[in-house]
Amino acid sequence: MCSRYRTRVPALDSDIESETSILSAVLADHPDLRILWDAHTHLPGEIVINGVNSILHILVEAIAERQVVSGDPPEARKAFERMKHAGLSSHAARGMIAGLILWYISQALGQEASFDAESYARQLRLLGTALPKRVGRNDPCPCGSQRKFKTCCEPVFDLLKARKEAGVIVLGNGKYIFGGPGMAMADPGLIEMENRSWIATFLETNGAPEDAIACLRENLAYAERKEANALIVNALQDIQVFCMNHRKYASAGLEVTGRLIALTTGQEDNMLYRCDKADLLAAKGSVHEAEREYQDIFAFCPHYPFARYRYALLLDQYDRAGEAEAILKALLERPRDLDAETRESARGLLDHIRTR
Ligand SMILES: [Zn+2]
Ligand SMILES: [Zn+2]
Repeated sequence: MCSRYRTRVPALDSDIESETSILSAVLADHPDLRILWDAHTHLPGEIVINGVNSILHILVEAIAERQVVSGDPPEARKAFERMKHAGLSSHAARGMIAGLILWYISQALGQEASFDAESYARQLRLLGTALPKRVGRNDPCPCGSQRKFKTCCEPVFDLLKARKEAGVIVLGNGKYIFGGPGMAMADPGLIEMENRSWIATFLETNGAPEDAIACLRENLAYAERKEANALIVNALQDIQVFCMNHRKYASAGLEVTGRLIALTTGQEDNMLYRCDKADLLAAKGSVHEAEREYQDIFAFCPHYPFARYRYALLLDQYDRAGEAEAILKALLERPRDLDAETRESARGLLDHIRTR
């Protein structure tokens, strides 16, 4: 490399280095967001997942971190130390400061108020202190501004109350964590898994499938480190569903399906995974192997009509609608052998084929 490029401006250099270390510190508290962060500059539009802007969260925490590290304003570092002393984690202490900064940003965006450094400093002085339980709206503000509470800190007062979960980001629920007020205090590892599954869906639908599957693989790696079988199965299922939607990932899908088959004891689940395996074989280009897999399934478990429906679905996808139709007709001629779901699915597919 030409030496010219290695000569750096010292002041600028140290700025860049401190910016990088600030960002690293914030991202270290959000390992689940790293892939999204790395991808965000080339993703289209705003990165909002279930109403939460993770990139903004990182940026605002980075502002808070910079204030703490640089001691500017000095109240930020003091507030941080005080909150840590009171038992908050570094992330929560930084998150409390970030919450306040975010409030000012949203006010400025709504043009309701401009940033008032003095109010901000007074509010920082309250962070981590024992706040009065009740303050009357016309009482003097506890921040010491000598204004009435209602015209001073009332709108931010809740943001000044120490919260252990400050800084935690929760992008959704239902897969690894479940709704409710305690959600942000769930096992951090499970919150990360939940977040990654939502991030993966977002990346998948925004044209970044490589990043999406990387997120899902991080979930699998986490579950494996935990040696938690239920989590491993969940993580494998997420990868499998992704691979079923993208022909390009059929080989990866086959690999995880093989693991799912090995991990599953219930016969019904096992049969479903074997149908998935057959479909993935077809997606990989081996329709012949897929057919053989289906024949094995029928031989192994002749009274599993859902597999025949799945077979018909596959045949139809590969331009063999005639054969698919014959299978569906045969299925529907014996409706008592069918469960409601298979009957509905078979009827739907048959109608679809006939009206095409
Ligand atoms: Zn005040
Ligand atoms: Zn955070």
